[in-house]
Amino acid sequence: MVYVPNEKRYESIEYRRCGDSGLSLPPISLGTWQNFGGGSVFETCRAIVRRAFDRGVTHFDLANMYGPPYGSAEENFGEILRKDFCERRDELVISTKAGYEMWSGPYGIGASKKYLIASIDQSLKRLGLDYVDIFYAHRPWPDVPMEETMGALAQIVKQGKALYIGISSYSPERTQKAFEVLKSEGVPLLIHQASYSMLNRHIETGLLDTLGELGVGCIAFSALAQGLLTDKYLDGEAEGGRASQGGSFSRDFLSKENLKHVRGLAAIARKRGQTLAQMAIAWVLRDPRVTSALIGARTVAQLDDSLDALKRMQFGDDELYEIDQYAKDGGIDLWREISLL
Ligand code: NDP
Repeated sequence: MVYVPNEKRYESIEYRRCGDSGLSLPPISLGTWQNFGGGSVFETCRAIVRRAFDRGVTHFDLANMYGPPYGSAEENFGEILRKDFCERRDELVISTKAGYEMWSGPYGIGASKKYLIASIDQSLKRLGLDYVDIFYAHRPWPDVPMEETMGALAQIVKQGKALYIGISSYSPERTQKAFEVLKSEGVPLLIHQASYSMLNRHIETGLLDTLGELGVGCIAFSALAQGLLTDKYLDGEAEGGRASQGGSFSRDFLSKENLKHVRGLAAIARKRGQTLAQMAIAWVLRDPRVTSALIGARTVAQLDDSLDALKRMQFGDDELYEIDQYAKDGGIDLWREISLL
């Protein structure tokens, strides 16, 4: 059936300016790390993207290696764009990344100019686009000169293959350096993609201050702690949930301590008249330096639940205090070591 977007999609969302840039992003953005690969049902992916757009989500995040197999999330998303959004490209902010392993050999991983330049061309082909809105260095690689990586990213912008540049999981010090090198190339650093949630608060001790001072936006990924910050694990188990897939969600995340915190947080959410997922999203957005919460969704129902976070975004000081009693780092951050490089 021909997709006709909801005409009122822009009426209920307050877009947020990304750092000091001119670009606004939706408060909630949709990522395709999981649930969009070759093993996913295409029509479900398509329905999720349509619903997101119908509810004002304009930003979709990808990476070269999202799948599995690598590249398949970009291929699927490209197919959705071709089928449903060819008239709507200018209403979308599409990002992709390179940094982790994508193909065999020394040129399919890292932060070299050789890898980044080849990878953006491959991504554009899979997506069927002339340019992406944001291209990221997906992770730091300290053995590669910052000048080479940022020089390659600047070249990609100058060639018109990306409009803006982002970095992901860089330490505050490396963020500062990346900012300066890009600036010397005449290309501003738009955004930092960092893991952040009520159970993973490391960016509060340095990175957010750095981003605020530099005027760089922040998009908080895994704001639901891969699903742990939802109502599904309150009894410890969740059939069909990510924890049962044996992938990125380690069963160690379901520790007694974490579950105690999750239950405490869920009780606060209930008092606020929200699901835990909704409160978790509203909570990362309480800081104006966080431009957008980057979430995943396996079903349209999950997406709808999460987007309803926007109905109740304010927190009283007493609520924030109560949340702090449970919002403790829970050893769930897969990217911590990388962000300390
Ligand atoms: P989330 O923390 O939002 O976890 C998403 C998962 O939580 C879903 O797949 C689903 O899992 C569950 N879920 C989502 N909404 C609900 C709901 N309302 N109720 C119950 N369960 C729900 O984010 P992700 O970890 O998926 O990451 C989001 C995006 O961030 C990625 O797609 C990617 O774009 C980006 N990212 C970036 C990284 C980087 O290095 N830059 C690294 C990781 C992510 P289930 O199957 O259990 O139902």
